[in-house]
Amino acid sequence: MGNSIVAPNRRPSYALIAVDSDPTAEIGKVGGSQNVYVRELGLGLARRGCQVDIFTRREHPEQEEIVENSPGCRTIRLTAGPAKFIPRDELFEHLPAFVDAWWLFQLRSGRNYTLIHSNYWLSGWVGLRLKSHLGIPQVHTYHSVGVVKYQSMAKPPAIAVTRHLVETACLTSTDCAISTSPQEVADLRQLISDRGRVRVIPYAINTSHFGSIARTVAREHLKIATDEKLILYVGRFDRRKGIETLIKACATLTKPFRLYLVGGDRTSEEECQERQRIQDLVTELGLEDATVFVGQVAQTELPFYYAAANVCVIPSDYEPFGLVALEAMAAGTPVIASIVGGLKYTVIHRETGMLIPPNEPTALAAAITEVFDDPWQWEAYGQAGRQWVRDNFSAAEIVAEIHSLYQSLTLAESVQSACDTQKLNPSLKLVSRFIE
Ligand code: UDP
Repeated sequence: MGNSIVAPNRRPSYALIAVDSDPTAEIGKVGGSQNVYVRELGLGLARRGCQVDIFTRREHPEQEEIVENSPGCRTIRLTAGPAKFIPRDELFEHLPAFVDAWWLFQLRSGRNYTLIHSNYWLSGWVGLRLKSHLGIPQVHTYHSVGVVKYQSMAKPPAIAVTRHLVETACLTSTDCAISTSPQEVADLRQLISDRGRVRVIPYAINTSHFGSIARTVAREHLKIATDEKLILYVGRFDRRKGIETLIKACATLTKPFRLYLVGGDRTSEEECQERQRIQDLVTELGLEDATVFVGQVAQTELPFYYAAANVCVIPSDYEPFGLVALEAMAAGTPVIASIVGGLKYTVIHRETGMLIPPNEPTALAAAITEVFDDPWQWEAYGQAGRQWVRDNFSAAEIVAEIHSLYQSLTLAESVQSACDTQKLNPSLKLVSRFIE
């Protein structure tokens, strides 16, 4: 056959677009889980023999343009707008420059990408532009959906309308959208469009990284007494995360406890404001002695905090996925989480912890009291959570699922273009019908 539909022995080359989330950056800043997702996906695909370039925006003049993350996986930092941190809501105007820089890089490197995977709506816009010129498939992961996020805001930002239009196009004009939870699919269908293809593929984590430390070892490492009742929060300081609910719940507990609040990017004005608000509340409710503001913790150290805790609380008002729940469960720590967003599907009520209504300090206090009163039961929840995460959210399996999606889409595209150029060879026509 003159025109081979799939080039044999050629390493597939994928372009992951993550304008606002440098996978090599410190995790725990804005959209922390997105950085983890993109990084784990890039590394995992490279382990499967693919070539992966992760395109992000340069945020500092001294940042290198190309970073080799692992053999086969690179981070490429493109210059688009000033080389400094720009809040997400102000990035849209720099996207045309990002696309131009992408073309220049592609010309220089000569790499032919077979598929684009965009992450978050800003990269979705970039991906749609590239797709329309290159004619290659695009996969899009939302990470969060604007209309859902803005529902709870009295005054949505000025960019909300643009975001909605782009998120609609990401659903209707890409080859497949990936949703990380069934709740997100329902939101997309109800609030955006019933057109377009969506697959549910959850976030994944490196289960061995989070699941290898015993509680005694972790407590020794962190210098926490063995008999202390430790409640853990991990995440950004953002109103949506519901830290206020947790503080109010803790103020009503009758038994002694220690509350560790991990996270808080000191370079972010918004996070500093929220942290101050929480600190004021802690003082007002007389919890200073019981509360430790740990600050941002590196991913290498985080497993110690999860392993040391008696319970990890995720009190969010809304949570598109909630990676922290998986990390805690992987460490064998039971979870109390709000029954919202992705948490509804990752935490199993009364099997790996408890799901409670958001924004209800009394319900949260009752659940924490149970952890203290019935430690054996909660220990069992922790062990069940560890197994649940290993069985369902391990990075190797989730990456394999995404890779197989890429393969089916690139094959469908190859068949389609071969059909177009070969005036519809009947056997190819048959194949193309079965690919979808
Ligand atoms: N994280 C971290 N250090 C911190 C706080 C958070 O590495 O001090 C990481 C955490 O391990 C998780 C991510 O940030 O991987 C937060 O993800 P999640 O889905 O819970 O929330 P998001 O920030 O994406 O809204």
